[in-house]
Amino acid sequence: MTSWVPTPCRVVERTVETHDCVTLTLRPVTGSLPAFRPGQFAMLYAHGVGEIPISVSGIPADGTLVHTVRAVGAVSRALHDAAPGTVIGVRGPFGTAWRLDGVEDLLVVAGGIGLAPLRPVLGHPSRRTVLVAGARTPEDLLYAGDLLALSDVDVVLTVDRGGHDWHGRVGFVTEPLASIPLDPERTTALLCGPEPMMRFCARTLLGRGVPAGNIQVSLERSMQCGIGLCGHCQLGPLLVCRDGPVTGYPEAEPLLLAKEL
Ligand SMILES: Cc1cc2nc3c(=O)[nH]c(=O)nc-3n(C[C@H](O)[C@H](O)[C@H](O)COP(=O)(O)OP(=O)(O)OC[C@H]3O[C@@H](n4cnc5c(N)ncnc54)[C@H](O)[C@@H]3O)c2cc1C
Repeated sequence: MTSWVPTPCRVVERTVETHDCVTLTLRPVTGSLPAFRPGQFAMLYAHGVGEIPISVSGIPADGTLVHTVRAVGAVSRALHDAAPGTVIGVRGPFGTAWRLDGVEDLLVVAGGIGLAPLRPVLGHPSRRTVLVAGARTPEDLLYAGDLLALSDVDVVLTVDRGGHDWHGRVGFVTEPLASIPLDPERTTALLCGPEPMMRFCARTLLGRGVPAGNIQVSLERSMQCGIGLCGHCQLGPLLVCRDGPVTGYPEAEPLLLAKEL
């Protein structure tokens, strides 16, 4: 009954990623959780504070679950602060996963915490994988050390504001997208980040000839039930917890373009 009743899971590891993000590894106190797929999310319950949707940012084979949490409000702060040993409630897996069948060239584009739901696809077999990841400052780049160590992925990192020690790119993720070598028809693009970022990236890719049907985005809306009952996360005809978060760009584009939807 993981869709209704939270499974108690213990924090077995807590890694500080940036000044406001941590990665938690969770293990069920007893039994096991159903398998998660990349792009799906869990409802994480901080006891006495509340429950929020958080994507899986790692899917180890040992039955643990990995989530990266950015502290922005009461619940995410409580999860962020959870020390090893703390018990958290987990419901899930929920939502749609990144569609990776038949992928040839994989282009992964992430802004800020948007890299968390995309990290599990970086090991997916492909002809070529390119990751373009952006953050506000070099200190806000998630998993930077691990990413640069990936041998099978071409990694392009960019920041909005560099500093004296930053010798990499400065600018939005759309800029490298405009010039990186692409075989448009063979490219599957996965985008996750703030909605304007995803819109601009998709437009750049469409302009380069990537078919709209080859572009997927991950939508975010605040949620409560996680199982398509309460309507809290409605976005036009979609209930994002059930029909998303991963959505094809042809379905997502009109929703992303509608003002204040
Ligand atoms: C499917 C899905 C997957 C997510 N995955 C992750 C993840 O892997 N890691 C992570 O850190 N966060 C993720 N989030 C966002 C996370 O759920 C919100 O940050 C959280 O709900 C905030 O709750 P809070 O009580 O801490 O803060 P609140 O007090 O509810 O909100 C604090 C601030 O954040 C804004 N906010 C709240 N929820 C959202 C949202 N969904 N999108 C944009 N802004 C929001 C509010 O408007 C407010 O300004 C995900 C959201 C969804 C819908």
